[in-house]
Amino acid sequence: MHRQGFDADFLTRVRRDLHTHPELRFEEKRTASIVAEHLRRLGYEPHAGLARTGVVATLDTGCPGPAVMLRADMDALPIRETGQGPWVSQVDGVMHACGHDGHTVMLLGAAAALAADPPECGKVHFVFQPGEEGGAGAQVMIDEGLFTLFPTDYCFGLHNWPGLAAGKLAVCSGPIMAGGWRFAIEITGKGSHAAQPHLGRDPLTVGAALVQEAQLLVARRTDPIIPAVVSFCIFDAGTADNILPEKARLAGTLRALAPDVLDELRDGLQLLCNGLAMAHGVTISVHFHQPYPVTVNDGAATRLAAKAMQALEAMEGGPVPDLDIAPSLASEDFGFMLRQKPGAYAMIGNGESSKLHAPDYDFNDNVIQKGVRYWHMLAHLCAASTAEVS
Ligand SMILES: [Zn+2]
Ligand SMILES: [Zn+2]
Repeated sequence: MHRQGFDADFLTRVRRDLHTHPELRFEEKRTASIVAEHLRRLGYEPHAGLARTGVVATLDTGCPGPAVMLRADMDALPIRETGQGPWVSQVDGVMHACGHDGHTVMLLGAAAALAADPPECGKVHFVFQPGEEGGAGAQVMIDEGLFTLFPTDYCFGLHNWPGLAAGKLAVCSGPIMAGGWRFAIEITGKGSHAAQPHLGRDPLTVGAALVQEAQLLVARRTDPIIPAVVSFCIFDAGTADNILPEKARLAGTLRALAPDVLDELRDGLQLLCNGLAMAHGVTISVHFHQPYPVTVNDGAATRLAAKAMQALEAMEGGPVPDLDIAPSLASEDFGFMLRQKPGAYAMIGNGESSKLHAPDYDFNDNVIQKGVRYWHMLAHLCAASTAEVS
């Protein structure tokens, strides 16, 4: 294995190249081949093709100790980029609007830094995951044997966070990202003349009642201490301003920071649909799909992440880490990994940039180095703290 550290300028060039050539979920072929090529150059023997385009490489110190998994996601989003950087996306309608290009290179940098300065014992698995954006790529990797092929004691993830000072690291124990259910609802009534509503069964007014009533699920049915959101994002009905339609289509998402609250929201929405259908003489079908579980950080693993952040701050200065950051109601498929293994998902500040998933968002290259050093420090602390995390 080459004894070399990482080169931040090189990683920035790779990041911008990935940004120029974004790939959607499970289509990250070019990205995966670049990742595998760099890993090979560092002396690793990457395992490719897990969950189609996922890549995993292992650093084995040869000495017994904990196996730590560090994970980055690689996929881009179906968004047309409006930013103007010279590395703007060259793929129409596709862009790295969530900074997964940055996550990928920070983990590549960690693979280089740890190859040059490995932990004293144990193993480090570097996981480059496809399909985080709505594809549950983490679960697909698990289904295809991630934890069997690469036995792991602890797993860690890192996401850039706009609005958090550039390079500031943050974590919290317990839930850090929400779980979600998506739902699609179809209300079928009976169309009629707008002036004769009594001759039909109007799905539109029932849909309007449903949107209103569903807010009571959060206000009156779930524990007010636990954050939860019900959002209807599609309400589609009608063809003309003097016809009451036959059908209305609604869709949206349920989010919560506790798994039982999430299930309660789902069951409550189903009951509400059943009740409104009975009360108003329409039929209502509901489909729930693509649940991302709550991302729940393990207490001991979070302490290790916090220790790594504090050690970095003591060594290098920079923004003081936030070790009790408020959780977000965004969702993240790393929750699937944390359902199987203890670990911690952390944030790294992207500065005052545009928000994630915005068409003018860009990853802040100035934080690459900090992210790499966090991974490096964390791997070392995990190896040195076997007793603490077991
Ligand atoms: Zn995203
Ligand atoms: Zn993301």
